[in-house]
Amino acid sequence: MNIVILGPQASGKGTQAELLANRFGFNHYEAGKILRSIAKSDNKYAPAINEAMTKGELVSDELVRLIAWDYINKKGGKNGFVFDGYPRSVPQYDHLSDMLMKFGLRIDLVVNLSIPKPETLRRLSGRRTCTVCGEVYNLVTNPPPSPTTCKCGGDLFIRDDDREEAILERLRLYESNTYPVFLKALEGGVGVLVDGSRPIEEIQEDLAGLVLRKQAEINRR
Ligand code: AMP
Repeated sequence: MNIVILGPQASGKGTQAELLANRFGFNHYEAGKILRSIAKSDNKYAPAINEAMTKGELVSDELVRLIAWDYINKKGGKNGFVFDGYPRSVPQYDHLSDMLMKFGLRIDLVVNLSIPKPETLRRLSGRRTCTVCGEVYNLVTNPPPSPTTCKCGGDLFIRDDDREEAILERLRLYESNTYPVFLKALEGGVGVLVDGSRPIEEIQEDLAGLVLRKQAEINRR
């Protein structure tokens, strides 16, 4: 089955997507992480991706479609996917539906992990990323071994797009571009709203329950 996890920045969608992927064997598509690694490479698209990311803007729909297609193709449809950070707009949602359809698959579940805006700001101001392995921590909710060092020994830093100006721009983009994806999923009967302000384990149990129910529903079809 194929799941999309939506949520504003720092809603914990990356953590939840990873837990779900480990638990059910889904392929975890992490859009931000994949784009950051391409941005650092000598790929011809690196400068365009870099520019958008530093400004807190979205990378073009066509570029993210190509990157997602490459990933879906490589993994194949057998184990299912949990998409995190993609799609982020209605056109991207339509692209993803079309790509999955080529494998005879569909988007089965779209979770919107919601947290209040002040909580987003509080959580984001504590976000730290490792310069070496890319691991993302939060000084409040998911602390590193020390405030400046990763478990791999690398130094931690604050990403340009975790600075206040970029955070506010991304929140605005979320409301105008990404939230409509959830509305569309609700119309299609696959959207579920989940309260993201609770403990990680509690949210994960809810999500696992949703997955199991959906899997049972798919098996009955
Ligand atoms: P994230 O780590 O998910 O916060 O993503 C970091 C940055 O990567 C975003 O601010 C965007 O510039 C870019 N990005 C990630 N996912 C997408 C997407 N689906 N579409 C366009 N840009 C994206």
